[in-house]
Amino acid sequence: MNLELSGRAAVVTGGTSGIGLSAVRRLLDEGMSVAFCARDKTRVDAVTQELARSAGDRVLGVVADVLDVAALHAFRAEVEARFGRVDVLVHNAGRSRMAGFDGVSDADWTEEFELKFFGLLRPTRAFLPLLRKSDAASMVYVSSLLAKQPERRLIATSAARGGALNLAKSMSFEFAPAIRVNSILLGVIDTGQWEARFAARRAEGEAIDHDSYIAELAQERGIPLGRIGRPEEVAAAIAFLASPLCGFMTGSVIEISGGFSHYV
Ligand code: NDP
Repeated sequence: MNLELSGRAAVVTGGTSGIGLSAVRRLLDEGMSVAFCARDKTRVDAVTQELARSAGDRVLGVVADVLDVAALHAFRAEVEARFGRVDVLVHNAGRSRMAGFDGVSDADWTEEFELKFFGLLRPTRAFLPLLRKSDAASMVYVSSLLAKQPERRLIATSAARGGALNLAKSMSFEFAPAIRVNSILLGVIDTGQWEARFAARRAEGEAIDHDSYIAELAQERGIPLGRIGRPEEVAAAIAFLASPLCGFMTGSVIEISGGFSHYV
């Protein structure tokens, strides 16, 4: 299917790993120019170099924290200078905080809310002027099933995701009809976040291999499709929502969780 993205430009926050990196690859494959940001310069440079081998000037990697307004404005300036346009903004940068009620201090709550709310608001503000010039502008917000189905061991992330999903819905009203805003709710996807937890368990001396760790995750959570998701499966949905073919979709929510949600 031709998603009619070729020749357009996208920005992906958190593009050096997992879902963000997969989205960058997918949008480049669709013929887009793609800029991405992340905080770790070594990884930004390595990913840019690797992707530029096939995408050339169509890929741009920039070091920027989604909470840093000055860095975001510098990012926008670089994107404008290189591509002259932005049609798609993918809000992907983030992480989850694995802790229950007693394990979250006020400072942790504040940090979690700051990342989830301002990590959505600040890149939006930075790229709005460019998005407003596009004839087919859209934002895709990569969120979590926790927004609708909280988990006790992820209490702060669940609450913050719930509020931020509400904000994404408000943004769909605020920016209509010029910019579409749609959200994706994820279950467990096999990315750096879970790799880091696997590595931590190994470092603590646990003799668990990678396949068993993934199988255990899927079984422990009772995921109906019997496995966890792949980043490419999320990237496909991001490309779909970004496409002008979805021109009548805004304020919608797509779930990618292997059937894990328990609500209707
Ligand atoms: P990864 O840890 O694999 O990748 C996260 C990416 O975001 C990296 O490129 C990281 O680079 C970047 N990043 C993190 N914080 C910031 C920041 N403040 N500013 C800019 N870049 C940042 O994560 P996933 O691919 O697993 O997750 C992507 C999104 O999906 C996240 O928002 C996550 O919460 C959400 N999600 C993931 C789930 C999963 O099971 N994988 C489930 C539910 C939601 P660097 O550290 O160098 O900045």
